[in-house]
Amino acid sequence: MTMFENLGESGHEQVVFFHDREIDLRCIVAIHNTVLGPAFGGLRMWPYATEQEALRDVLRLSRAMTYKAAIAGLNFGGGKAVLIGSPETGKSEALFRALGRYIGSLGGRYIVAEDVGTTADDMDLIYQETDRVVGMHRVHGGSGDPSPFTALGTLYGIRACLQRRFGHAEPGRHSFAVQGVGSVGYHLVKLLRAEGAKVFVTDINQDRVEQLVDEFKAEAVPMHQIYDVDATVFSPCAMGGIINEDTVPRLRVKIVAGGANNQLESNECGTQLEARGILYAPDYAINAGGLMNQAIELQGYSEERARRMVQTTYDIIARIFETAERDRIPSWQAADQLAEERIRAVGRIKLPYMQQRAGRYSGRAPHTVSSE
Ligand code: NAD
Repeated sequence: MTMFENLGESGHEQVVFFHDREIDLRCIVAIHNTVLGPAFGGLRMWPYATEQEALRDVLRLSRAMTYKAAIAGLNFGGGKAVLIGSPETGKSEALFRALGRYIGSLGGRYIVAEDVGTTADDMDLIYQETDRVVGMHRVHGGSGDPSPFTALGTLYGIRACLQRRFGHAEPGRHSFAVQGVGSVGYHLVKLLRAEGAKVFVTDINQDRVEQLVDEFKAEAVPMHQIYDVDATVFSPCAMGGIINEDTVPRLRVKIVAGGANNQLESNECGTQLEARGILYAPDYAINAGGLMNQAIELQGYSEERARRMVQTTYDIIARIFETAERDRIPSWQAADQLAEERIRAVGRIKLPYMQQRAGRYSGRAPHTVSSE
C-alpha cells in the first residue's frame, strides 16, 4: 500500500514528520480525526528500531485516542506523537523546546501530553514554547500525574460491571486479580483495599509487589499464575495484548476490567471472552479518567471538577453494556459503535464550526512567545 492508501484505510487526516539534524530530533505527529475538536494525545519517547515501527505505533495510538475522547464525551479528536530516541539518554532542553515550537506550528490542531517515556518535566519544557500542552507540573497550571484519575475511573467502571453482573456495585464484596502495580495499578489496589476488597497482585518488579503486600495487605501471585486466580475480576494494569488465545480459556473470573491500553490481542478475543460468559469493560472507555482530568486542565484546573467528570465512567460503561444487550453485539463492538455514532452525529451538525474551533484553540499563554 502507498502512504495515502494506508492513511485512507485508517482514516487519518494528517501525519507530520518533524526533523532537526543538529539536535537529533525525529518526531512523527499523527492527527487521526478532529471532528469533535483538536486532536489530543500523549508524546511517546521510545528507541524504535525502525521508522516504520514508529509510524505504525503513532497511527495505531492516535486512532485509539479518537475513540477514547469520543466515548468519554470530550470535545477532542485523536492524536499522538512519537519521538524516536532513548528516554534515558536522549533528552535535552533543546529537544523539547524545539518540539514545542513544532507543535505550536500546527496552529492548535494537536495538543500534547505525557506518555510512555515522557514526564511532567518534559511538558514544562514544551510549555516554554507553546500552550498546546497539558500535564505540566501544578505550578504551571498543570494537573500532574494522571494515574490516580485513571485508577479512580477504572474503579467506577468496575462498579458498573458489578452492577451489571451481580445487581450491586460494591467492590468490597469481591476479589480482584491485578496485573501490574505501577502507577495505575498501585492506585487501583489502594482504592479497592479501601473498599474492603480482597486483592491479588503481580508485577515483573518484585520490590513493587512487596511494597503492595506491606502497604495494603495484598496477596502476591507469581506472574504466570495471575490468569488462573479464582477471583471475581481480572484487572489488567500493565501491558497490552494479554487477552489472547492462550489466556481466554484460562481465566476463571466473571469480569475483565482494568486500566491497561489495548488489552485485547484482537477483537475476536473480546468476542471469545463474552462467549465464555465473562463481562468485558472496553479498555479505552474504562481507562479514560486520566484523559478527562487533563481535559479539565485546559479550562483552568479544578480537581473537584475532574473527580466529578471521572465519575461519569460508571454511566459510560453501563451504557456500553446496555447497547451491547440491545443490539446483541459484544461490548468492544458496542463501545466502537457509540464512539463512531457520536463522531458522525457531531460531524453532520457541527463540522464547519468544529474545524474552525480546532484551529482557534488558545488557552494559557506560554512562558515565552515562540518565533512562529
Ligand atoms: P507503569 O509503567 O507505571 O506500570 C506498569 C507496571 O506493569 C510496571 O510496574 C511494570 O513492572 C508492570 N509490568 C509490565 N509487564 C508486566 C507483566 N508482564 N506482568 C506483570 N506486570 C508487568 O504504567 P502505568 O502508567 O501504570 O500504565 C499501566 C497501563 O495503563 C498501560 O497499559 C498504560 O498504557 C495504561 N494507561 C495508563 C494511564 C495513566 O494515567 N498512567 C492512562 C490510560 C491508560
